[in-house]
Amino acid sequence: MSVSAEICAAVEPCAVGVEYLQWVPGKRHFRCEKLCGIWSTADCSSRYMRAMVGDERVSACRFCPIGAVHAGKVDPNQAATPSAKVKITGRPDNGSRCTRCGRFNLRIIHSGAEICVSCWNRQREWRLGRNSKGKAPITFLPLQVRRVGIMLNGVPCYQMIADTQNEVEPLAKCIRFAHDSVAFHDEQPGLTVWNEQTRSFEYRDRANPGKVMLELNQDGVTRYASVAVDSLSPGDVTAVVRMPTLRLSVYAAADWLGMGEEGDGAEITNEWRPQAIVCSSCSISLVQARRFAGHIECRCPACKSSSTVH
Ligand SMILES: [Zn+2]
Ligand SMILES: [Zn+2]
Repeated sequence: MSVSAEICAAVEPCAVGVEYLQWVPGKRHFRCEKLCGIWSTADCSSRYMRAMVGDERVSACRFCPIGAVHAGKVDPNQAATPSAKVKITGRPDNGSRCTRCGRFNLRIIHSGAEICVSCWNRQREWRLGRNSKGKAPITFLPLQVRRVGIMLNGVPCYQMIADTQNEVEPLAKCIRFAHDSVAFHDEQPGLTVWNEQTRSFEYRDRANPGKVMLELNQDGVTRYASVAVDSLSPGDVTAVVRMPTLRLSVYAAADWLGMGEEGDGAEITNEWRPQAIVCSSCSISLVQARRFAGHIECRCPACKSSSTVH
C-alpha cells in the first residue's frame, strides 16, 4: 500500500515526490533512485546523518535532500527545490536570446533548436559541407551531446542534450525547454576512477567501489545504475565520464572567468552574456558576465545576486 504525502506528513516527514510503502507496521519504505534500491526511512535517515559527519562509506548520501527530510533536518516544502530559500524576482531566460551564441534580441529559429538565424545558417552549411561561397566550413565546431545535472523530485538526475556547440548551450536549452523552472546540481553520478585495462575513466559506485556504473536513458532522463564488474555482459557499455555541471556564486564566477581570460575562456563582451556556470544561490539560472571598466562583472537574472553588490 502506498501512502500519499498529505496523509503521512502529519506523522513523519515525507520528501516531495517520493512514494512511500507501508510493508511492515511502524516502518516506511521507499525507492531510493540514487542508491537504486528500496530503503526504510530509518536507514535512509541514519545513512544521511553518518554521511554528514564525514563517514566515507555512506558518502553517496551526503547532502541528499531526501535524507535530510527523513532525518528531520529540513521542512519538506523547503527541500522541494534547492532554490526554495532564495527569493526569485527575475526570469532565468529571455526567449529572444540565442542558446548557442548568447546574443540578445534576435530572431530565433524554434523547432527544437532555439538558435539565431546566423547560428542556424552556420549549422546548415556545416551539415551540407559547404558555405555560401561553395567552400567547406572549417571553423565550425562540431556539434556534440552534452550532459546537464538536473534535480527531479528532489533527486539528482541528468539530461543529455544533443547538437550543442559549447558548454552554455545545453544549460540554456534546458532552461528554455522547461515548463517550470529547472534546478541544476553539480554532482557526479559516482567516483571517477581510472581503469588501467580499458585506458579510460569510469564511474564507480560510491557506496561500493567494486561496482561500475552503467548509463540508462528513460523518457529523456539519464540515470546511473551500478553493477558488479564481474557480472558485466559483453554488450554492457560502462558510462562515459563527463564534466559535472559547474555551479558557482556570482563572486566566484567573476574570479573564475577573470583567471581564464588569457586561455580558452568564454568570450566576454561589454554586453551581458550567459556563461556556462549555474548560479549557486538559486540553482535555476545561468550566471551572466560582462566586461565593465576593465573588470569582469557577474550577475544572476533570476535571484538578482550581483558580484558588484557586497
Ligand atoms: Zn546565435
Ligand atoms: Zn541566482
